[in-house]
Amino acid sequence: MGSVRPIDPAVVRDLADVVGPRQVVTDPALVAGYTTDWTGRFAGRSPAVVRPARTEEVAAVLAVCNRRGVRVVPQGGNTGLVGGGVPLEGEIVLSLRRLSEIGEVDHAAAQLIAGAGVPIAAVQAAAVRGGLAYPVDLAARDSATVGGSVATNAGGLHFLRYGGTRERLVGIEAVTADGRVLRHLGGLLKDNTGYDLARLFCGSEGTLGVVTEAALALSPRFDHRVTALLAFGSVSGATEAAAALKRTVDSLEALEVFFDDGLRLVCEAFALRPPFDEEFSGYLLVEAADRADPSDTLSEAIDSLEGVMAVAVASAASRRRELWRYREDHTAAINGVGVPHKLDVTVPLGRLSAFLDEVRVRVHATAPEAQTWLFGHAGDGNVHVNVTGVAPDDDAVDDAVLELVAHHGGSISAEHGIGSAKKRWLHLSRSPEEIAVMRAIKDALDPNGILNPNAVLP
Ligand SMILES: Cc1cc2nc3c(=O)[nH]c(=O)nc-3n(C[C@H](O)[C@H](O)[C@H](O)COP(=O)(O)OP(=O)(O)OC[C@H]3O[C@@H](n4cnc5c(N)ncnc54)[C@H](O)[C@@H]3O)c2cc1C
Repeated sequence: MGSVRPIDPAVVRDLADVVGPRQVVTDPALVAGYTTDWTGRFAGRSPAVVRPARTEEVAAVLAVCNRRGVRVVPQGGNTGLVGGGVPLEGEIVLSLRRLSEIGEVDHAAAQLIAGAGVPIAAVQAAAVRGGLAYPVDLAARDSATVGGSVATNAGGLHFLRYGGTRERLVGIEAVTADGRVLRHLGGLLKDNTGYDLARLFCGSEGTLGVVTEAALALSPRFDHRVTALLAFGSVSGATEAAAALKRTVDSLEALEVFFDDGLRLVCEAFALRPPFDEEFSGYLLVEAADRADPSDTLSEAIDSLEGVMAVAVASAASRRRELWRYREDHTAAINGVGVPHKLDVTVPLGRLSAFLDEVRVRVHATAPEAQTWLFGHAGDGNVHVNVTGVAPDDDAVDDAVLELVAHHGGSISAEHGIGSAKKRWLHLSRSPEEIAVMRAIKDALDPNGILNPNAVLP
């Protein structure tokens, strides 16, 4: 980690003039809470955390940093999984959590505007209070923020029906590296007035600007919801069933896959009763939601599937939550085994089954002592390959898995982003020409390179 380079007291004074002295945190014990990522794999160091509460403060902080050449890592809930939100090289941390204002639901437009620091769960709750829903949903919903989810273009559990954050983003307020505020929050559905800056910032992982507010499109709220856990004797049985359900059930909201070893781990880690008396090779967690009860439609679709060995169905919220825990608790249970290498990838749906088989073999051949945990969003071809039992800085497994993904025509990052963890492999998914254009955009918006300098671009 190394020692922290002290910050110029004049910079601290300038920053304190903007946000107030209490919001420039330099006490190492408090700063430590912002310098390690959720997995524990990426630990950095920082001389200070700056905590603005308003857009104007963000703008003034960035103007100070740009003028004085101080590098900045924006941070929301710090639930990111690619080491993009922690100060790896002694940058200051710009915490956006205090930008926590949330507007009323605009019923005519079915939208709401939320500050960067608002947790996703709070957006969902506000939408429900307004008779609607915010469909971007992820297990980190209580901590992950609007700004972080825009910056990473978070996907989540309902992607197959609603798309991810980029599809929900209808306006943005962001601050450029030199402190200019770009405000375009009108939420117009048709607006072909030049470059779409909101979508450019979305997924830029804090390298192009700091998101301060977002206008988000909401979706209808469905009161009838049914969840089913299906067990299969083989990996291909589960992936073929996932494809069939996608084709036949219009009200499908989630289609998650996991396997016997992961389920066993989750049950042990959280003292959960296994869902079935017997163990099976693969599992699909399926959820449908609609204005009328979708149970019959889902049951018919399940009955017509081949290879289903056992089924548990739930409509009551408490039992549905129990079924969801088998999937959602994977991330935390794996963290309990050791510091994981997290490789969130997509492969074409037709290659999913082959990839799931091959990736275990590939990891084992590279690191025989490692354990491979697989789960993910089966409907999107999105697999979370988690590997434990290898040193955090040993990249051999990452190399092997990401090469395999490229071989199958997949993407090295499905939804978590590139961060610092994957920038070495960006060329596997993006051409030299594309990377050169990304670099040109970065240089145009942040010529002094102060914004998240360790993320995305090699
Ligand atoms: C248990 C668990 C489950 C998860 N499930 C999913 C999932 O299903 N789908 C998914 O996509 N992700 C998932 N994630 C990853 C993570 O939650 C998302 O990437 C989330 O969007 C990050 O939000 P955050 O506020 O925590 O951002 P942070 O971790 O704080 O930051 C993430 C990145 O965004 C940048 N950033 C943060 N705020 C801003 C801002 N206001 N302006 C500009 N840049 C900013 C940071 O610099 C960093 O590069 C999961 C994580 C955990 C721990």
